[in-house]
Amino acid sequence: MNVYDGQRISSMLCGRGMTQTDKLGDADLIILNTCSVREKATNKVFSELGRIRDRKKPDSLFGIIGCVAKEAGSDAFRRIPELNFVLGPQSYHKLPQILDNPDAKLLNVDLSGLEKFDELAESVNAEPLAYIPIQEGCDHCCTYCIVPYTRGRELSRTFEDVVRDVHKAAANGATEICFLGQNVNGYKFSLADLIRETAKIDSIKRIRYTSSYPTEMTDDLIQLHGTEPKLLPFLNLPAQSGSPNVLKRMNRPYSLELYNEIIDKLRKVNPDIQISSDFIVGFPGETEEDFEMTCELARRIKYINSYSFKYSPRPHTAAALFTDQIPENIKKQRLVILDEILTQTNREFNESCVGRTMECLLEGPDKTGKHMIYRTPYMQQVIVEASPFAPEPPPGRAIKAPSAPPLEGGESSTGVSEPNNCAPDLRHDPPPSRGGADGAFIARPGGGSGASMTLQTIRITSANKCSLRGEFV
Ligand code: SAH
Repeated sequence: MNVYDGQRISSMLCGRGMTQTDKLGDADLIILNTCSVREKATNKVFSELGRIRDRKKPDSLFGIIGCVAKEAGSDAFRRIPELNFVLGPQSYHKLPQILDNPDAKLLNVDLSGLEKFDELAESVNAEPLAYIPIQEGCDHCCTYCIVPYTRGRELSRTFEDVVRDVHKAAANGATEICFLGQNVNGYKFSLADLIRETAKIDSIKRIRYTSSYPTEMTDDLIQLHGTEPKLLPFLNLPAQSGSPNVLKRMNRPYSLELYNEIIDKLRKVNPDIQISSDFIVGFPGETEEDFEMTCELARRIKYINSYSFKYSPRPHTAAALFTDQIPENIKKQRLVILDEILTQTNREFNESCVGRTMECLLEGPDKTGKHMIYRTPYMQQVIVEASPFAPEPPPGRAIKAPSAPPLEGGESSTGVSEPNNCAPDLRHDPPPSRGGADGAFIARPGGGSGASMTLQTIRITSANKCSLRGEFV
């Protein structure tokens, strides 16, 4: 969701003649896009804001958007008086107000529902992958989770609005659609119908959705994984824990039997499907036996691209008040153990892909510019040798839109590129930046350019625990 928010802000501002810059000192406007799901990320935000204040141009505007802004509210101005704006996850569409009135202090952390989608309707990205939110907020109220507080009650956008956005994205060159929601498969107007409708569009070749809640996996949606070829064979289905006791205290009211049954059904309709999960270790009261059940689940399901987190007590959540908190050193030890299992299954799957050819979606050049990054249908990163073609960005005012601090100590993931920070960037990390503000693509020698190059057949030549290498076929 943060990646989506960042993209919308960027296209909203580019629509006003601004361009993106990677240099803090060049920026006229600096936006810190934040996540407050875990405490460590939240703490980093204010030190980062202090750093920005000290290094930015004196007359540039800077501020904070997203969940930390919602949580901090006006207190953010007390902590960093020079801040120009503080906007919550449902009010960042009001950002242009600060450009029109740079001397004001802009504060808006209202949970104004779906209003932002109407306001942002005209800012559409030209990206091969289009994130399309179909829902805001969450009603599940897991006892560890701050999302219902920062993003509000669960609201589904209308089917018509979403389909209109899908068509716009397709017209703009999107090849892949990723539907977004905190409880995406709980979408009120049927996610399965939405996928069927999207699959009718010729130029859309890949469809996926994140993040799912186990009890919302309807049979209709499960069946679709066997019948709809455009629906990718990859699903993030967070289990959080393998212990019935812990799940109960997390207020995740599903049994492990049900969870396993869903995965069995998915694998039956599509034997090729790969599953990823989120896990929290060291939840209050988690015993060694509970933790072993989580490890057992991870070994049995053989997840790929999973995220594992140390439990982090969050304000406004029930679990933060539980008295049986787990000591930090135990949480750390458990995270290391679980991470080893997840890395191992990830590596095994990556290695099993060597020699296969797959249709992969272009993501952009890597940091060196010497390689191109693609995504397999299972969301692994594939690095391919290529010569970059990066046009100059159009002239205009410069913006910098850093996103939430990346995953780090206390959070692990298995999936791509960097050790212990190798998650697929489905929710937490932005895609690598492109050469130009308009999403310029790399032309393969002798090939065409632009959207026609976004989907490539690639042979996987080697693999490690985090990523794959490949060559064009
Ligand atoms: N419904 C959203 C939740 C976003 S948070 C989604 O599924 O993406 C993403 C993950 O962060 C959650 O699945 C959970 O594993 C983890 N998480 C949430 N709150 C946490 C907390 N207080 N401590 C540690 N990890 C947490």
